[in-house]
Order: sequence, then structure tokens, then C-alpha cells
Amino acid sequence: MSLRRFRNIARIGPVRVGTAYDQRGREKHTAVCTAPRCDFSADYDTRAAAELAARTHRCPVR
Ligand SMILES: [Zn+2]
Repeated sequence: MSLRRFRNIARIGPVRVGTAYDQRGREKHTAVCTAPRCDFSADYDTRAAAELAARTHRCPVR
């Protein structure tokens, strides 16, 4: 997943949180895990929610 179009990218552990606009021009906040073999990625309505998800994310046991 590309994070190029995101701004305000923050790194929280292995997870990156970025803010972008969707096709309807609404702000969205995405958390993406960059750890190998972890494909966690989710969108949130608020930055706080995305950062909370990043802080509490645990990669699946492998
Ligand atoms: Zn992960």
C-alpha cells in the first residue's frame, strides 16, 4: 500500500498513521502496519482513533 499521498505521517511502533482525503473530499485517517507478513490496514474518521489503533495494534503471532 502506498502512503505517498498521505500527509502528517506518524510512526507508532511498526504502524504508520497518515491523513488523506478520499474520493469524496472527506478527510480520513489511515493506520497501516509496516511489519513483514502483517497486512493490517484500516481507515478511521478521526486522527485520535487512528493513533489509538496504532498504539494498541499487535501483529498476529506467526
Ligand atoms: Zn502489525
